[in-house]
Amino acid sequence: MGVKIRVLPAEVAGKIAAGEVIERPASVVKELVENSLDAGSRVVTVDIEEGGKKRIAVMDDGEGMMRADALLALERHATSKVYDEVDLATIRTLGFRGEALPSIAAVSRLSLITRTHNALSGTQVLAEDGQVHAVGEVGSPPGTRVEVADLFYNLPARRKFLRGVRSELAHIIEVITRMALVHSSVGFVLKHNNRVLFDLPPTQEERSRIRAILGKEVVARLLRVQGSSGFGEIRGWVTVPTYCRGSAKGIYIYVNGRYIRDKLISHAVSEAYRRFIPARMYPVVILFLSIPLSEVDVNCHPAKMEVRFRRGEEIHRLVCDQLKDTLSHPPEARPGEISEIREEMAPYAATFSLARDSEMIPLAPSWRMVGQLKGTYLVVEGDEGVMIIDHHAAHERILYERLKRSLHGERIAQQPFLIPQPIELKREEKELLLEYRTELATAGLELEEFGERTVVVTSIPSFLQGEDLPSLLEALSEALAERGEGGAVENVLDRIYVLLACRGAIKANRRLQEEEVRALLREWEEMARPTTCPHGRPLCLQWSWREVEGWFRRG
Ligand code: ADP
Ligand code: MG
Repeated sequence: MGVKIRVLPAEVAGKIAAGEVIERPASVVKELVENSLDAGSRVVTVDIEEGGKKRIAVMDDGEGMMRADALLALERHATSKVYDEVDLATIRTLGFRGEALPSIAAVSRLSLITRTHNALSGTQVLAEDGQVHAVGEVGSPPGTRVEVADLFYNLPARRKFLRGVRSELAHIIEVITRMALVHSSVGFVLKHNNRVLFDLPPTQEERSRIRAILGKEVVARLLRVQGSSGFGEIRGWVTVPTYCRGSAKGIYIYVNGRYIRDKLISHAVSEAYRRFIPARMYPVVILFLSIPLSEVDVNCHPAKMEVRFRRGEEIHRLVCDQLKDTLSHPPEARPGEISEIREEMAPYAATFSLARDSEMIPLAPSWRMVGQLKGTYLVVEGDEGVMIIDHHAAHERILYERLKRSLHGERIAQQPFLIPQPIELKREEKELLLEYRTELATAGLELEEFGERTVVVTSIPSFLQGEDLPSLLEALSEALAERGEGGAVENVLDRIYVLLACRGAIKANRRLQEEEVRALLREWEEMARPTTCPHGRPLCLQWSWREVEGWFRRG
């Protein structure tokens, strides 16, 4: 085998969207694991210390490099994946710029040990400040091991911007998750501070990989998507229309094997789900698109996370149509599900009704119920006039205000569990929830750590009775993870309250009992009738009798 790596000619290198690729430890992990995947590895092991800030090692059993390649690999624009402009237009590998290794070497102390399968020994290259300072022969198994120590040691300003160990670790887990979802046949191991965080065995069953990553709750709710248009192919998995969560983090989109973020495709996904789930709630979606290489430009973003489509509308249509089709033809219901469906359908049976006189009920001080429209809107009349109230929105606002008052010592009614409920989560989700344990407890949700990936819930706020706990905890940890830059604790708490209130509020499309209406309106009135729900949507429309009389020229 000859030398495989070449330095790109200047005119090709010049056409590559260059830029800083190394931003944080997770960027190093992404680039190194991509190289391992491009090298045809069966198992990739990532071993890090202190969230990758101290040390990152990536080991693989891929094709390895000969000595001359190992040296070339650290030069700028040296790659074995693209030789000329024609290749650049039809990229199939994850890497193609020949930039990752030199960029990493420039900001760390790097050791590369590599051996091809038929070589008798391996090569070790040591670099610091981007300069190779030692090359030698070493014994090593076939494959490649890159170790990156003290990231940004020579760029103190950049180093200062790194976040805490937990947060950097969460980024790394996310990066590996994205690759592990699309490469089920490759094993992934992650070790942090000498503890194995996960060990995903290679599998031919995509669902078992998804299950290992996203948990059985999600997998149980997945529908398979499969289809094509003249333009391209789509396959993957999407959650049933009745499932949703509070953030878009469960949306994984791949184009020709590469994870990407793309507004157009995300829009197509929300469009397909729009009829089913409320605004600002999201499904879990794992989609693999195969598009002719000539239709996509992957070379327009430094971290290779965005692509450009030559015919955007075709992509949009492909995704949206296929998803709509999948969602509107769910698989046949199991016998046990029939009664649940009947229950869910009941409110639709009478979509409009006006209460007869005898059913009119006197309400808190001066309102009485006239009826309920579409199971969603209460119509009430009083001395002042008429109101139409969105009862879900009103209830949401009430719960939200109650939760806010809990901060100042008001107790939230709680429902303790006789048998604490163990819930399995992703590791970083568990960590986040535990970090906010005190705040959650004030809101009535009590949990405790229980093993590596499990928490037990010992008590929930009473208004959440019957709520699906795993999906609730997932949504909560997502809200917490979004702490991001504007990270004041108050904002985080506010997001938690909005979420809990939304989950706990009476669902629209349910006919309320008289007693419920009375209690709802009483509490709403005590709060001086706020007019929007916590998301800012209006919750009530009101007309004075004078206005009503005006319409009919009775005034
Ligand atoms: P790129 O991936 O864009 O080609 P890199 O700087 O990431 O650029 O890597 C340079 C070259 O080094 C690659 O083209 C590949 O030939 C070789 N290489 C890097 N990592 C590995 C690995 N884990 N196994 C085998 N070859 C590798
Ligand atoms: Mg690369």
